[in-house]
Amino acid sequence: MTRCISCGMPLNDDTRGTEASGMPSDTYCSACYAKGAFTLPDGPIEAVMARSIAAIIAQGVPPLAAKKLTERIAELPRWT
Ligand SMILES: [Zn+2]
Repeated sequence: MTRCISCGMPLNDDTRGTEASGMPSDTYCSACYAKGAFTLPDGPIEAVMARSIAAIIAQGVPPLAAKKLTERIAELPRWT
């Protein structure tokens, strides 16, 4: 499965970000990347992690588990 290299979200037709051309992105999700630009251009990674934790909790995952799930964000290509 392809995942966003900024936040780790699985990429599918519903979650892909868009390039400046309007084409779907193969590398970033819509939460991180829209119309060819990062939604949080300067990071920081903490903001991306906080946003991911909130999104995961919104899906019904307990906060501690959600935090655990986002710990690997720092290992993704955008941040290394
Ligand atoms: Zn993302």
